Amino acid sequence: MLEVSQLSIHLKTSKGIITPVDNISFTIEPGEILGLIGESGSGKSLTAAAIMRLLPNNAFYAKHSKILLYQQNILDFSEKHMRKVRGANIGIIFQDPMTCLNPVLTIGTQLCEAIELHQNLRGRACYIEALRMLDAVRIPAAVHQYSSYPHELSGGMQQRVMIAMALAGKPQLLIADEPTTALDVTTQAQILLLLKEIQRQENMALLLISHDLAVAAQMADRIAVMHHGKLVETNSTEIFFKTPQQEYSQRLLQSIPSLFAIRADQANVSQEQLLDIKDLKVHFPIKKGFLRRTVAYVKAVDGIDFKLSAGETLAIVGESGCGKTTVGKAILSLIPATAGTVQFVDVDLTTLNVRQWRKYRGDLQIVFQDPFAALDPKKRITDSLEEGLLALDKGGDNASRLALLDQLLTNVGLTPEHKFRYPHEFSGGERQRLCIARAVAVGPKIIVCDEPTSALDVSVQAQVLKLLQNLQQQYGISYIFISHDLKVVSMLAHRVAIMYLGRIVETGTTIEVLQNPKHPYTQALLAAVPKIDHHELVATELLSGDVPSALNPPSGCHFHPRCKFAKPECKINYPEDIAISQSHSVKCILYKEIVN
Ligand code: SF4
Repeated sequence: MLEVSQLSIHLKTSKGIITPVDNISFTIEPGEILGLIGESGSGKSLTAAAIMRLLPNNAFYAKHSKILLYQQNILDFSEKHMRKVRGANIGIIFQDPMTCLNPVLTIGTQLCEAIELHQNLRGRACYIEALRMLDAVRIPAAVHQYSSYPHELSGGMQQRVMIAMALAGKPQLLIADEPTTALDVTTQAQILLLLKEIQRQENMALLLISHDLAVAAQMADRIAVMHHGKLVETNSTEIFFKTPQQEYSQRLLQSIPSLFAIRADQANVSQEQLLDIKDLKVHFPIKKGFLRRTVAYVKAVDGIDFKLSAGETLAIVGESGCGKTTVGKAILSLIPATAGTVQFVDVDLTTLNVRQWRKYRGDLQIVFQDPFAALDPKKRITDSLEEGLLALDKGGDNASRLALLDQLLTNVGLTPEHKFRYPHEFSGGERQRLCIARAVAVGPKIIVCDEPTSALDVSVQAQVLKLLQNLQQQYGISYIFISHDLKVVSMLAHRVAIMYLGRIVETGTTIEVLQNPKHPYTQALLAAVPKIDHHELVATELLSGDVPSALNPPSGCHFHPRCKFAKPECKINYPEDIAISQSHSVKCILYKEIVN
């Protein structure tokens, strides 16, 4: 149905014309899933944009390029005709649902827009079709969710809405451009299964773009590998993973990060305890009525304990909405704690007022998830970096401050000349390096890293992780590393705490938790990660349902509605910590029965 023939795309840049997609050819049959894989920058997304005729303004097709949809070259179509093709013949799902959905319109309105355009339905018929589509992509309580705004939905639900919108025009070909990269493992598993089911039901062709070989292996009938803009190999999934033909494909397969490439070095972890958190709670009041009376509480963090030593990395892991970010913000008093203590060396940080906190701001810093939003676009890098130093009266006189910034920029892999630039002149990875440099500038003992690599592609992700490790060795910094990505966690963390609905359900060293998980939730998280072992895809197991609302958490063990081992007593008794070893503990009343 689709034949891409000798497709080349040229880009006009300040340094001349470059060719990021160079003479590639492939076909997709009806009902087939083609996995387009490769490292970031290999030209995958540009190929998808080229098929949709959505190239950036500075890009153009080479003369000999052809993209035939049912034998018709879409490069010859007028823009008016192309608007009909988009959505009706070819649909697309983008990577980040949050930036693709309109934040000021309800999801029902946005879905109806697509249905009205492509199915020509109006009024009640359109509403009924929208509900049917929300049902088809398994949005629970579709009637209620129809009038929700995007921010009221979890990442997984937003991605399902995006899928529903892409399917509204009943396209024959769906392009899914990294559809699960921004999602946690359990949501990823659900979305992939849903995509495959819908694809089979509708006999739709699917072009799945992914940098994750395990995801491609799980989904695709055939694999096409891109490298530096060229298509280096196309083969059936089975043959590709068993006997890759090209040298680059073999290297790709060998470089698959193992979940168990676990950081074992404890060399830099000292015995000095920096942080001791006891029974930390953060409850957000829900206020209603004219008098804004508190009617209920969202228990985002509901009694957690952990310790952190100097030079140590503790990862806090869990699905979106489990309270990980709230913990990080509560430690830094960016959100007030409702109860509990955060003991930093010899002071309880929860008892300090804003003025007293200034003394400790330099010791505790944060790196945010989105480096694009974390830097002031109107400030030069030098101003952003020295802001903290000036506010905390550190860094000495002008000359020594600038020398310190030069040194920092060099340490994070940039050059001193970069300090005169503005944030928009940097790539995503470089901006995250700048955010890390800004946090390190004031000489912190602890940095809270809140999903610092989830907005970055894999190769940049690896560089940022390496940088964090180097800085830890150089300056002896401790990290609280908040993440939903178990592969990233296994590479960086010394210890792991698994969070579920405001509570830590399992904690231990990275090896204990990831190689020998005891809690059913940890086991389910690990089982949901797509893995390739000895060139064979290891089947993923699905964890049913979404994280319940922290406004009304399930009784007893919060995990019981999703736990395959749950017994009636789990609904009544709240499990306490059970020590398995000196460093490993689990909250599960049936843990011994499950293990045996
Ligand atoms: Fe599952 Fe019961 Fe253990 Fe909770 S306490 S994790 S429901 S077995």
